Amino acid sequence: MQMPKALRIRLIGIVQGVGLRPFVYRLAVAKGIYGYVRNMGGSEVEIFAEGDESALKSFLEGLASEKPPSARFEQIFIQELEPRGYGDFKILRSDPNFDERSIIPPDFAICSACAGEIFDRKSRFFEYHWNSCAFCGPRFSMLYRLPYDRENTSMVQFPLCSECFRDYSDPGNFRRFHAQGISCPRCGPKTFVYSITGEKLEVDDPVEFAAKKIVEGRILAIKGIGGYHIACLASDDSVVMELRSRKKRERKPFAVMARDYSIVEKIACPPPKARELLESPERPIVVMPKKATISELVAPGLSTVGVMLPYSAFQILLLLRIPDGFLIMTSGNVHGKPMCTELDEVFSQLSGIVDYVVEHERPIVHRVDDSVIRFSDGEPVFLRRSRGFAPEWIRICRSVAEGIALGGELQTAGAVSFEDKVVLTQFIGDMDEIENLEFMKRELEWLIGEYRIRPEFIAIDMHPLYHSRKLLKEFDGAEVIEVQHHHAHAVAAIAELGLSPDSKALAITIDGTGYGDDGGIWGGELLVSSWRDYERVGSFRPFNLPGGDSAARFPVKCLVALMASLGFGHSEVMELLSKRNLLNSLPYGLQEAEITYTLARKGKGAITTSLGRILDAFSALLGVCIERTYEGEPPMKLEALADGGKDLGLTPELCTKDRIIIDVGKLLEWAMETEARKEDIAKTVLQGIGRSLGLAALEAMKCRSLDYGNVIVTGGASVNSHIVRGIKEILSPEGVKVVLPRKTPPGDGGIALGQILVASSTLIE
Ligand SMILES: [Zn+2]
Ligand SMILES: [Zn+2]
Repeated sequence: MQMPKALRIRLIGIVQGVGLRPFVYRLAVAKGIYGYVRNMGGSEVEIFAEGDESALKSFLEGLASEKPPSARFEQIFIQELEPRGYGDFKILRSDPNFDERSIIPPDFAICSACAGEIFDRKSRFFEYHWNSCAFCGPRFSMLYRLPYDRENTSMVQFPLCSECFRDYSDPGNFRRFHAQGISCPRCGPKTFVYSITGEKLEVDDPVEFAAKKIVEGRILAIKGIGGYHIACLASDDSVVMELRSRKKRERKPFAVMARDYSIVEKIACPPPKARELLESPERPIVVMPKKATISELVAPGLSTVGVMLPYSAFQILLLLRIPDGFLIMTSGNVHGKPMCTELDEVFSQLSGIVDYVVEHERPIVHRVDDSVIRFSDGEPVFLRRSRGFAPEWIRICRSVAEGIALGGELQTAGAVSFEDKVVLTQFIGDMDEIENLEFMKRELEWLIGEYRIRPEFIAIDMHPLYHSRKLLKEFDGAEVIEVQHHHAHAVAAIAELGLSPDSKALAITIDGTGYGDDGGIWGGELLVSSWRDYERVGSFRPFNLPGGDSAARFPVKCLVALMASLGFGHSEVMELLSKRNLLNSLPYGLQEAEITYTLARKGKGAITTSLGRILDAFSALLGVCIERTYEGEPPMKLEALADGGKDLGLTPELCTKDRIIIDVGKLLEWAMETEARKEDIAKTVLQGIGRSLGLAALEAMKCRSLDYGNVIVTGGASVNSHIVRGIKEILSPEGVKVVLPRKTPPGDGGIALGQILVASSTLIE
């Protein structure tokens, strides 16, 4: 007989909240292994395994090859110890201590087995709204503290009934044995209905009631996993119009939830990779070309719509009772404010918006918005990384200092770092709202506490007026390090490529606004960048943009300022505006156009190289968007127009001064004079601008005789398929690969990752 040996195994990755301990228990019993398994306070799992050598070998093999579907091992530490003579294998109480940090489990959509039970009349989970098991259900959104055990979640107030306890204690019950979040109609959270005036309504079946009211054209707030949604019909113009007027949301698109994939195909044209994403446990909103079956008012003027599939049993049951099979499901918030997570917030904030509220009893600990993914020239990219993904860490190729990053100004997220990991928070939102600043602070403090981080630095954007600066005083003792906006974008993408901190990469960073190191407003930059520093090797030709915020709101001002700066004559500009009927779109009409022209001509107003503002100008010229009602609206409308167009092959000119300059003047002149269809003009402008960026990148590599193999494209505008196609048109034949960030959003939701790495590299070296 072989001598027993003992191994201490520590598993790092997504290992808590995924049914791992019961799996390890069953495996150990099957292989004749004694010892224990337990959750630890760093979100890791520890196993003590004792047995003969061949049994241990087979146990380790089974661990890797048979693990539960949602589990992921990033690191496995194995240490040989003296056998302790255990007589059985046990799941031990969790140990709040930790010696390794692991991934905090994100929220998972309901699995197919749990979805099956809610339709099974013989199952005790029949029509149960909050069914979940070891492999599915909310995790992060209900987690007070690590480790992931029931008493550390908001399920603590729902003691298991005798039947659930039996399942929980039964090693033969694959999906419920030691599953922390389980409940049933007897012991779990109940669902209630309220009128928006706060009156609790006596209804037999909340799903039936909600469906009936929605079909009648009413608007409801529905509590979900990470917050409240606002739900209503998406097929009825008058209902969508009513929601827009109540929510004071003129044109920003609403997301839609569809019953199943066949309904998705009825309302949209999902690209090849969409189905896998839609049906994944992360279950994000996926943006795809829309069909006419949904109201035009859901995403007015856009060719796309954001669609998701249900991810809770309640949502599945609700969608089944909607004859169309799809609904608007948009965040339950007031413009700019965070999504509501508590009933009293709904009563106070959504009172003018919804008619009824569907409520359940489980508290939401962490607000988590739905994630949003779109396709950029066929590849999925994040518009918003939140539910299902956050707070999963991003591993990088070397260790970094422990620190904090506060992200950008709008549509942003923060981050913390330790070891070789960066943890981005869930989507936070716009930092100019005090509630979002508080939300950011709370989430960062929670991560710092749970991961026991001692921040050495706090990284912030260089912009002197960003609201995140108000949070600096909340994190005393850490060194404040300012990071240039586009450098942060570039480095976030570099980290994904796995490049070492000193190696340089060429990054095309294109977006709306970022504070430049010369005090200008950048947004169309070519940077040769390492973690530590960058050189600005190219940009669009700078132009003067008087009027600040008002210029971003009224794209016609961008057009006037761009034309004035590029040398178009006064009469030419004014004639164009009157001929195209664009003067009325400025609040002060001709007078405002005159002032804008004169100031820009004199070199007054911010100096900008922003591609966002250049696209605003083209969008005004073509009349597709003359007032911006949400971030990115003019370029999105331009992209939608271009979707139906043909590329006519024009490209802006390049010239080289102290850096490469892209001049869109000739392209603008052509766009003014051509008789081509608007669709073709839009397509040519976007793809042509992409080509000019590609040519500038080639030029930059040539004059530095650099061979990078990759060119990074990032920033909010990099999700524009036509621009990316133009860049690839130039670079691909040269054997240069065009790379977009995939693990984090290329927009300002991903900037905190770059901020961490830049700041950390200035401390470490
Ligand atoms: Zn399940
Ligand atoms: Zn129960």
